[in-house]
Amino acid sequence: MSDAIVVLNAGSSSLKFSLFMDRGADLALQLGGQAEGLFTAPHFVAKDAAGAVVAEQRWAEGETLGHAGALEHLLGVLRERQATDRLVGVGHRVVHGGPHYDRPLRVDARVLADLRAFEPLAPLHQPHNLAPIQALLERQPALPQVACFDTSFHRSNAELTQMFGLPYELFEQGVRRYGFHGLSYEYIASVLPEVDPAAAAGRTIVLHLGNGASMCALQGGRSVASTMGFTALDGLMMGTRSGSLDPGVVLYLMSERGMNIAAVEKLLYSGSGLLGVSGVSSDMRGLLASDAPRARLAIDLYLYRIRRELGSLVAALGGLDALVFTAGIGENAAAIRDAIVRDAHWLGAEIDATANDAGATALHTSASKLRLWRIATNEELMIARHTRAVLARA
Ligand code: ADP
Repeated sequence: MSDAIVVLNAGSSSLKFSLFMDRGADLALQLGGQAEGLFTAPHFVAKDAAGAVVAEQRWAEGETLGHAGALEHLLGVLRERQATDRLVGVGHRVVHGGPHYDRPLRVDARVLADLRAFEPLAPLHQPHNLAPIQALLERQPALPQVACFDTSFHRSNAELTQMFGLPYELFEQGVRRYGFHGLSYEYIASVLPEVDPAAAAGRTIVLHLGNGASMCALQGGRSVASTMGFTALDGLMMGTRSGSLDPGVVLYLMSERGMNIAAVEKLLYSGSGLLGVSGVSSDMRGLLASDAPRARLAIDLYLYRIRRELGSLVAALGGLDALVFTAGIGENAAAIRDAIVRDAHWLGAEIDATANDAGATALHTSASKLRLWRIATNEELMIARHTRAVLARA
């Protein structure tokens, strides 16, 4: 019987999960789903690999399940499906591994305490990522748990790349560019050798365009630079996050507009980006279909920011062989890919409209100087692979 690995990705009000079976050569997805609305109107759904619903439950409006309750419910569903007796480990997505955790590792109480120290660096993610680890350590201390960090993949960035023009002591104290979406980039880097061996060995920029969005410059499959910095606010404009901003704007909002830290945090994380500019939606699909006057403006600014950051990453790499589009917008929004490639005409990029509209893997024309790829990311599989590897070393 195969071993089972559960992957958990806990957000502020949701717990996403996947169940993988170890098939030796790779890991096969068996079940996936989520518990949402953990503090408002909880809803749990689990689907099999073909997408058919195999378990579902709704709780009354106003009921609170919390992360521990959601985990308990998930374990019950897995028990019913005889998956718990084969469970060899749980892999967690943890947004922040700080300056030193450059790879996944097994979590015990000491490591968990260490990871808590990074909560101020990612206040909207880290505490939630750690909640199920804590709950499982209490309930099932013998069950191995592995933390996989969104920052680890970027620890290969040169020290210079990680620095701000701030006093050096602050860099030593952890005020540095960490970069995020590392599990997604690592997955793309792991499949790129099959798709485009020359780009995998050379210079590639990956555009992870989801609700959160960033870009990463890969050289020989390793991250050399990315658009996100100290927090996941930096770089590209996102669904509700501002992206890069003159820090003077924050000082002005606080000193002249009387905004306190909580109000500025809310503005930058939840009220800006596509939502803030358009005034209607943070969702690209909605904006593309919208007639609202500022919907097009929001998309234009989104594209302009990508164009600017692309130039910056090409400069960091000293040239470019390929672009990879991934995540919700990168994988599904053909019109956005088309516009990004048109903006990259100066690099010799040329998109094949038919391939792009069809959502093919290869998007470049034969005359294009850059290879253009559409590759679906799979952060969950990356976490499951890491978890298996860490447990095999134990
Ligand atoms: P998250 O960062 O939350 O994982 P996703 O990677 O799922 O987000 O990306 C969500 C984004 O992808 C949303 O802006 C959504 O509108 C966009 N998206 C998904 N499908 C399409 C589509 N067919 N066309 C345009 N945008 C899409």
